Amino acid sequence: CGIVGYVGSQSALDVVLAGLKRLEYRGYDSAGVAVLADGSLAAAKKAGKLANLEKELVDRPLPAGATGIGHTRWATHGGPTDTNAHPHLDNAGRVAVVHNGIIENFAALREELAGRGHVLASETDTEVVSHLLAEEYSASGDLAEAMRLVCRRLEGAFTLVAAHADEPDVVVGARRNSPLVVGVGEGEAFLASDVSAFIAHTRSAIELGQDQVVELRRDGVTVTDFDGRPADVRHYHVDWDASA
Ligand code: GLU
Repeated sequence: CGIVGYVGSQSALDVVLAGLKRLEYRGYDSAGVAVLADGSLAAAKKAGKLANLEKELVDRPLPAGATGIGHTRWATHGGPTDTNAHPHLDNAGRVAVVHNGIIENFAALREELAGRGHVLASETDTEVVSHLLAEEYSASGDLAEAMRLVCRRLEGAFTLVAAHADEPDVVVGARRNSPLVVGVGEGEAFLASDVSAFIAHTRSAIELGQDQVVELRRDGVTVTDFDGRPADVRHYHVDWDASA
């Protein structure tokens, strides 16, 4: 039930895992991370506590990278297994997606994707998004635009965060009826379901509005609606005590 995304110059894995720990209080049954490094995407995911994921990362370390996403899952569609844990990848392993919420029209989308030859590995409602993003990305070559096009096809409640191996310095997020906050640092940027995930790094935040997409880069963030129109961005300063 937590999401963290990072673009910057620190170890994305360290930032994302620390952020997920700050979100543990929300409850979860599985956890996973994906890191972009050397033009490819590497992911690890495990049912159970973050400690299980951390053990997996010791046994099978991911390459070091400065762009990453992470997730703690509270299963709604598909049991709490390693395969159903997020991130979910497309068949080429180029795009990774994490999701909080429920995609109501996932069954029709799964059928449509299967008809076009996609092989879905999990039982989740989420996995359709990685396959749809892969298709839209090959058409537009722009992850934020791909996310906007996919979001317009989704019904339900979602916070989505995605990264693509062909855009190694970008993380994209979107939300509808589910929270997503952006943190703006010096040469780095964060995404999370809750500011507590990044407050150790920056106090400068943006609350993403309903039906908006954000593109995160080291040097700034761009927010639009699902049609690509620039959105009014509301910056605020997080002034509560980080240790609280
Ligand atoms: N519906 C998704 C799943 O079951 C996301 C659940 C969540 O919010 O963590 O995988």
